[in-house]
Amino acid sequence: MSGHDHHHHHDHEHDNHFTPIEARVKALESLMVEKGYVDLSALDAIIDTYETRIGPRNGARVVAKAWSDPAYAARLKTDGTAAVAELGYGGRGGEHIVACFNTPEEHNLIVCTLCSCYPWPVLGLPPVWYKSPPYRSKAVIDPRGTLADFGVSLPEGQRIRVWDSTAETRFIVIPMRPEGTEGWSEEELASIVSRDSMIGVGLPSPEDRP
Ligand code: FE
Repeated sequence: MSGHDHHHHHDHEHDNHFTPIEARVKALESLMVEKGYVDLSALDAIIDTYETRIGPRNGARVVAKAWSDPAYAARLKTDGTAAVAELGYGGRGGEHIVACFNTPEEHNLIVCTLCSCYPWPVLGLPPVWYKSPPYRSKAVIDPRGTLADFGVSLPEGQRIRVWDSTAETRFIVIPMRPEGTEGWSEEELASIVSRDSMIGVGLPSPEDRP
């Protein structure tokens, strides 16, 4: 397994703690809920929107451009951080982004075994399950079983490569462009690239076009 040298425990711990601003936001949020100003379920809906829709749109644009523009795909393969920055994405959690291209021979799956490192600039907030101990251990021990849990079954001959995210290096999966998308615009292509497909627990399908 690549990228599994965790020489960065200090940085890693940052992911499990709130920054002063995040702590203030959390405190304020609790107060608002306690006072009845904010409905927690409404907050959950907002968070869900960021997790599954708004956040991952950046990554979806990266994937759609890679599918449409071979020169961009080549740059993305060589230097993920720079190629993602071309589209204006970067910053905290995106200092070193590596794009893992799925091929017929190899499928890529992302995890952070130690905590919850995640490529925020391209995928937004990590889903709750990504941070859960069962996902973090099973993804490494039984990647094929993990994919089955998400309803994904790959051809037997396709290897699964697991990438362990760290504070230094974050990964994004570039799924294969599905058949049936010939002639689609980048925007149409981006619309079928889900967050899960960029973590490696999902596959894009032309039927997902809105
Ligand atoms: Fe982590």
